[in-house]
Amino acid sequence: MERYGVFGNPIAHSLSPVIHAQFAKQTGLDISYDKILAPVDGFSSSAHSFINQGAKGFNITVPFKIEAFNLATQLSLNAKTAGAVNTIKVDGDELLGENTDGIGLVNDLVNNLDISLKNKVVLILGAGGATRGILLPLLKQSPERLMIANRTASRAIQLAKDFSDYGKTCGFSLEKVKHDPVDIIINATSASLDGQMPNIANGVANGAICYDLMYGEQTPFMNWAKANNAKMVMDGLGMLVEQAAAAFKFWTEKQPNTQAVIKHLRS
Ligand code: NDP
Repeated sequence: MERYGVFGNPIAHSLSPVIHAQFAKQTGLDISYDKILAPVDGFSSSAHSFINQGAKGFNITVPFKIEAFNLATQLSLNAKTAGAVNTIKVDGDELLGENTDGIGLVNDLVNNLDISLKNKVVLILGAGGATRGILLPLLKQSPERLMIANRTASRAIQLAKDFSDYGKTCGFSLEKVKHDPVDIIINATSASLDGQMPNIANGVANGAICYDLMYGEQTPFMNWAKANNAKMVMDGLGMLVEQAAAAFKFWTEKQPNTQAVIKHLRS
């Protein structure tokens, strides 16, 4: 049996073991996948002890993604540009670091929801770790323009600069979002966790596809989008399953059927 797991603090809420158990069943692989609560100041030693027990790989969630970036001995381009790692594969003495969050979002949008990003105007709300992780995969889809709006404008401006080699990006404050509609709005702030909605002009949602990275409940952003004539409103459950599938493939080279798992989790 091959051993995998997910590190976080807290970790009790994680759906990853359920998702990976379904992937293993689908692909006929004999794997175990544990939730591992690492002490806030003890990620590296917990990870090494898991590796010494023969683990083949693991996922990393809040608050350890940057420490996992430092733990990896090799990094993919996605992980390097994200500055964070959510998946490690143990390969002999090497720890291969990958970030599958952005790939997960793009696969959900493009494959599950049939939304093309090519030549689209995309507005991202938020400029934290999640935004940094999704920018490169989104820009690889060749949107017309990718705008980042953040409560603290300087962080959005810096991110737009950091990624300007990969496509047309710009950064500004939430107040500068105009009523002019855009094609796609992605809420990558953590405002939903506090039951809040980023303070932006209502008209921007008119006819737009609105996607909240958060999942598990109807968020204030989703309610706002519906109330302001969005064309489609989605939560981030599909992204969660897709980022897990990309990790599963990275470890095992097998591609699971994500739609069946998304359907199962939604029921
Ligand atoms: P960070 O803490 O790194 O960043 C938080 C961001 O939210 C900052 O840009 C912050 O602005 C902004 N923000 C927080 N509160 C408010 C508010 N009330 N109004 C406006 N802006 C606000 O968080 P992450 O980037 O790591 O995570 C963001 C979200 O993405 C979380 O909800 C997380 O659950 C979700 N996520 C979902 C995934 C999935 O698989 N579906 C994967 C990864 C993340 P400022 O800079 O001004 O502080």
